[in-house]
Amino acid sequence: MIESTKRPAVELVKCEVCLKEVPKSAAKNAEVQDYVAYFCGLDCYEAWEEEQRKEKTQEAGEP
Ligand SMILES: [Zn+2]
Repeated sequence: MIESTKRPAVELVKCEVCLKEVPKSAAKNAEVQDYVAYFCGLDCYEAWEEEQRKEKTQEAGEP
């Protein structure tokens, strides 16, 4: 039998807010327009979400 499990054990992603590296499987993620943002936990996710909301409010007058 051939085993094709040569991948690294855990894939790490960086938290969008505090830049801590967390396992992708444990990270919270949010799909944005052209990429996926990852977070180490709900605290960072909520902080980021609030930032997004602020930015959207500021850009409300876009053409
Ligand atoms: Zn974080």
